[in-house]
Amino acid sequence: MTNRLEEVAAALRRRGFSAECFATGAAAAARVTELAADARSVGFGGSMTVAALGLAETLAAAGKEIWRHGDPKWSPAEKMDVMRHELTCDLFLTSANALTADGRLVNVDGNGNRVAASIFGPKRVVFVVGRNKIVDGGIDAAIDRIKREACPPNCRRLNKKTPCAATGVCADCSSPDRICSVTVVMDRRPSRTDVQVLLVDEDLGY
Ligand code: SF4
Repeated sequence: MTNRLEEVAAALRRRGFSAECFATGAAAAARVTELAADARSVGFGGSMTVAALGLAETLAAAGKEIWRHGDPKWSPAEKMDVMRHELTCDLFLTSANALTADGRLVNVDGNGNRVAASIFGPKRVVFVVGRNKIVDGGIDAAIDRIKREACPPNCRRLNKKTPCAATGVCADCSSPDRICSVTVVMDRRPSRTDVQVLLVDEDLGY
């Protein structure tokens, strides 16, 4: 495990978060399975990191009630209903768009459903964060990372008609497809939510 990851974990703990480090995504996924033991329902924020670890499939096989609005089987109305269920699930799984080296989680969202669930509602929130999400330079660097490295590929993946999807560069757009209308900085653990951050010494998601 790199010293850098351990230092970031220590910074997160100073801000009230639980933080653990893992050498691989597979090891972090095994830890998520442990943390899900007492959860009846599990919600998914739409993270590519979480998807790559196969956690929806693993936890469904373990008998958990799964709420995943990104599943293509939902109609638009059903998707809204699923997002509301995600707000009150026992365990909410997501990643971060960026994590500052001094322990602040930074996320952008279009609807706000993912960031809302990460703050209040679910009994426990687990962020699985690859080392590539860690930035030096504070909040400005975090937002810069998000606009350069997260939004363009996410817009392309979600087939959003935004300038960054076309050019790779943020134009601070007014597109109805904008995916970064809300920015949330978690300076400390929200007082009513158990937030755990699992840091992974691999590049995961974007
Ligand atoms: S403001 Fe628009 S162009 Fe900029 S990152 Fe967000 S969605 Fe992309």
